[in-house]
Amino acid sequence: MEDVFKKIVSHCKEYGFVFPSSDIYDGLGAVYDYGQNGVELKNNIKQYWWQSMVLLHENIVGIDAAIFMHPTTWKASGHVDAFNDPLIDNRDSKKRYRADVLIEDQLAKYDEKIQKEIDKAAKRFGDSFDEAQFRATNARVLENQQKRDALHERFSKALNDNNLEELRQIILDEEIVCPISGTRNWTEVRQFNLMFKTEVGSTAEGASTIYLRPETAQGIFVNYLNVQKTGRMKLPFGIAQIGKAFRNEIVARQFIFRMREFEQMEMQFFVKPGTELEWFSKWKQTRMAWHQALGFGAENYRFHDHDKLAHYANAATDIEFHMPFGFKEVEGIHSRTNFDLSQHAKYSGKKIEYFDPETNESYTPFVIETSIGVDRMFLSVMCHAYTEEQLPNGESRVVLRLPAALAPVKLAVFPLTKKDGLPEKAQEIIKDLRFHFNCKYEEKDQIGKRYRRMDAIGCPYCVTVDQQTLEDNTVTLRDRDTMEQRRVAIADLRSIIEDKVSITSLLRRIE
Ligand code: ATP
Repeated sequence: MEDVFKKIVSHCKEYGFVFPSSDIYDGLGAVYDYGQNGVELKNNIKQYWWQSMVLLHENIVGIDAAIFMHPTTWKASGHVDAFNDPLIDNRDSKKRYRADVLIEDQLAKYDEKIQKEIDKAAKRFGDSFDEAQFRATNARVLENQQKRDALHERFSKALNDNNLEELRQIILDEEIVCPISGTRNWTEVRQFNLMFKTEVGSTAEGASTIYLRPETAQGIFVNYLNVQKTGRMKLPFGIAQIGKAFRNEIVARQFIFRMREFEQMEMQFFVKPGTELEWFSKWKQTRMAWHQALGFGAENYRFHDHDKLAHYANAATDIEFHMPFGFKEVEGIHSRTNFDLSQHAKYSGKKIEYFDPETNESYTPFVIETSIGVDRMFLSVMCHAYTEEQLPNGESRVVLRLPAALAPVKLAVFPLTKKDGLPEKAQEIIKDLRFHFNCKYEEKDQIGKRYRRMDAIGCPYCVTVDQQTLEDNTVTLRDRDTMEQRRVAIADLRSIIEDKVSITSLLRRIE
């Protein structure tokens, strides 16, 4: 699986999806640029999310808040004091790790061991295999399950108590080694604040410290009153936002999974106190349906309920996706109570409440948050789409099986040869269709090679213009996934393709 992941990373670079930032200077750790195809795919993901929120919900509106915010925002939100990760260093390799991540990986190892036993037995027993009974009776499974549960309980308690010494002790007791040096020569565990600081103001005396936002959510909270009043919004209602966020991540590995500059799509849904858990459950389902409408298979997603609830949260879950390096968080769904709005009321001295015309009372709304990283979503789409295929004629191809609505280019148009007016005819087709979806013209190399290049960027349709086209205005339309070719009239191209490549077609599937 590691190999597949490496191939995906190099594919992203080779085909203009993702480049290391400032590549000519050998890159900058955990910062990436999106290339000509990447930006299109990313924009399509954002559009899919935005429309699913703002178009499909009458009571959700969007905003676009600034990245710089008044510094008190981050005092109020708790980020200045508590937006920390527990870090630990290995003295031999001099590498730094997140202590919680080392322990989570250890938990995953127990899960893997158990799964291996189950897979082995399932193979042996065939149809008569009863997984529940096997889990309850097999000695090796029981032993590993018991070890896992004990570790899990100890880990949750250490996190909840903020007990850094205990986190270190767990790492020692579990005999976790540094993957680089292979030793257990660990330092103490320390807290590390993830916010980037900078200064505004031109003179040293007049300058004040501000932060690059580590999440977009606070831009929504501080605008709650503005939007509620000017939009005459009635509870329950939501505010959605897409924007950059910055975190000085300690361990920045796994490509665009963990970046220092990334993009979030967040929606805060304001509800009447007491109804929040019902809404939490509704948003869990709605968000899962959004993911599954992409057709990547329900088995590749799961909910992961949080062990450590932030002190202000009363429920939290992650949607995890099966990446080549295991099930990983792509989205968080949190019931944040009235914590943020109350804190901003306290620190700003403004009354931040909702007057409920039905009950004639004023109260601070509770909030359900859905928060997804654009880049992680991009990575999950790439990981699922990347396919190496053996063809019946003995050749092989790499094809990105992207959902057509997300593909950077929807239609490639090729003249069979560069002469006899074929290029002009091909350009004519593009001229007409480019208003409806993204088209690309290609005349270099033989048709087979052009198909491969389009497969590699996930282009769902290619058409070839040949001599017959000049006579009867038909072209060969080739499907990326089935590779089937059929003759169709140029006049029909739009109606055949447009609906399939539109975001609307995805949105309909969520319903
Ligand atoms: P993790 O535990 O992986 O650090 P988190 O729980 O801190 O993530 P949240 O604060 O809930 O993440 O942020 C919401 C979403 O933002 C995440 O589900 C993820 O998709 C995205 N995200 C968070 N941090 C990063 C990052 N450093 N790089 C890319 N995406 C990120």
